[in-house]
Order: sequence, then C-alpha cells, then structure tokens
Amino acid sequence: MMGRDVSFSAAATTIPPDVIERVRADLRQKRDSNFPLLDLPFSSADVCALMADAEMRLRTLLDIPSNYAVLFSQGGAYAHFSMVAMNLLADNDVADYVDTGLWAKRAIEEAAQVGRVSVIASGDENGCRSVPPLDGWRPSPRAAYRHITSNESAQGIQFQEFPAPNDVPLVADMTGDFLTRPINVRQFGLIYASAQKCLGAAGLTLVIVRRDLLRPCARPIPAVFDYHRLAAAHSRVNTPPIFAIYLAGQMLRWIEDEGGLAVLAERRARRCDRLYRLLGSSRAFRCSAAPGHRSATTLCFSFAAPEGQSMALEVAASRGLRYLEGHPAVGGFRIAIHNAHTDQDIERIADYLEYIST
Ligand SMILES: *Cc1c(COP(=O)(O)O)cnc(C)c1O
Repeated sequence: MMGRDVSFSAAATTIPPDVIERVRADLRQKRDSNFPLLDLPFSSADVCALMADAEMRLRTLLDIPSNYAVLFSQGGAYAHFSMVAMNLLADNDVADYVDTGLWAKRAIEEAAQVGRVSVIASGDENGCRSVPPLDGWRPSPRAAYRHITSNESAQGIQFQEFPAPNDVPLVADMTGDFLTRPINVRQFGLIYASAQKCLGAAGLTLVIVRRDLLRPCARPIPAVFDYHRLAAAHSRVNTPPIFAIYLAGQMLRWIEDEGGLAVLAERRARRCDRLYRLLGSSRAFRCSAAPGHRSATTLCFSFAAPEGQSMALEVAASRGLRYLEGHPAVGGFRIAIHNAHTDQDIERIADYLEYIST
C-alpha cells in the first residue's frame, strides 16, 4: 500500500521520472556554443533552436495550422486575463465572457479593468455545477471576442464541446486542461495556458493565436504585453523563460513518446470513469459537478459528513497521497489527474476512496 509520495495537486503537474533524469544529464552538457544551457544568452543560436524545437513539437501535437502563431510569454494565465483584453478589446468594443466559476470570474474581473465586458452566461444560477448550455448564451451583437474557461479547476467542471466557430473569435483559458486531450485549434481565435499545470515549470505562459488577430494595438500597452510584438520578435521581446521553455520541450517529447494526446485522453477517461464511479457509488461523497460536465482533470467532491474531512486528509497523507485539499474558495477534496500518473498511482487513490467511504 505504501510507496513514494504522489501529488494530486491541481496547481503543479508531475514531471515523469524519465524527464527529470534527462534534464539532469542535459543541464551539464555543453551545447553547440560550448556553454551549458543555463549559461547561454537568450539570443544565442542554441536558445533559438531550443525554442523552435519546443514550438515545432507543440505544433505537431496539436496540429496547429500555419496561420496561428505560438508565443512563449510570461505572467501566468492571470496576467493574460488582462493582456487578452489589452490586445483584443478596443475602447468602443465589448467582449463577451462566459462565467463558469472561479477562474472565469477572475478573468472577467481583470478584463473589466481594461474595457467593456458582457457576461453572456453564468453558472451561478446553478452553483457552477455545469457549463451554461450553449444555446442559452446571450451574445452581444458585435463582440470583439468571446471568452471561455475550458476547465474550472476549483469547481471541477469542463467544457465537453466548444461552441461552433462564428465571426467572433473564441478565446479560451485552457490552463486547467491544456494538453490533456486533442483539440481543434481552428475553433479558436486565441488559447492561453500557464505551463506549470501541464508542462512543468511556472514562468511560461503559452499563447496560440490566429495571426489575423495580431494587429498593432489601438491603445498604448507595454511592449512585453503586446501579442503582436511578441509574435514579431519570436517571443524574444525581452528574455524569455528559457528553462521553462526547455522543460516544456522535454515534456512535449514525453507526450509524443506516450503516443500523443488521443492516447493520453483515452487513458485519462478510463481513470476518471473509475474514480467518478467510486465517488458516485458511496453515500459518503458529494460530487457537485453535474454528470456530463465533470472534469477529467480536476475531480472535486466533498464529504457528506464534513466533520470527517480533516481526518480523511490525514489518512491520505499517511498513505503518501498528497495535496488532496480542494481550492480554498470551495473547500472539500480535489483529485487532479496528471498525465504522468501511473496506473499504480490511480490504484492507490481508488483504494483510498474505497477505504474512506466505509
Ligand atoms: C491555475 C489557473 C489559472 C492561474 O494560473 P497562474 O499561472 O497562477 O496565473 C488560471 N486559469 C485556470 C483555469 C487555472 O487553473
């Protein structure tokens, strides 16, 4: 039953041991320019090649068409809540937002500091238990863009299908489920995601943006926040987060070696089905997310008898199952399934759920 500690944190992913080993060896290696990676200036040929390699791997995995730019930016998804509006929302325009939960609310709050925002659907009407039905959204006549949050990591709900493309570019905060399943990039105008939730190190925020949206900004904005300038400078307006990009490249390579996103998604679906079935089969648990909307990356639930909860978390920790606390704003439990979890990790969390349900 005991074994190494396993993290089920939604805040940071697990780096597979093979990748850690490769990185350890690699960091000592001198590159072509005769220095190890972390000693290199960001404009060096080695760093440029490393960035191009990570971009190429991401393009291949997600089948990103050539009319989309890939940006390696910084600030975390939270910074991009503002940056999206700074770049895409002109003074007289309005941006449509779908409020699915905690992260969408933060995105809305930040964008509203920059420009005019309309909340066209809200999960509040049902306690954020499901994604508001697509046919009930109330879009603005000529929105600059429409923003969604593909996975609400605090509430444990996830878009199972995305709205059909129309004239209004769809912008998605995919931090909660980036690279956990195949997506059709062509359905989106812009996708952003913090790297630490799926690709390793904090400090890198990936942006995939349709090139026709990359116009010089109408309003003055700082150069490092300007998507147009970032794209023109190949993400080197200033020093990019080189180590985080390097690690992302290694993680992308690992995903390829595992068989790609369809394989990972299928494996994930099997694992989640099993865990949700366990949660559903005991009266000890309450799973607030509605069936059909439940997240395959962040499984959120609580105890029907809340007084047992802190004891159950202690039991988890004693079994080496770590970071099962729900988001502080929501409470309860949260199991984040990482791409790098093994069958045995899932076995252990399933055993644990069975144990605490009795
Ligand atoms: C974690 C998270 C964020 C915030 O990411 P930071 O890198 O901390 O800025 C934003 N959106 C979602 C869906 C998240 O899960």
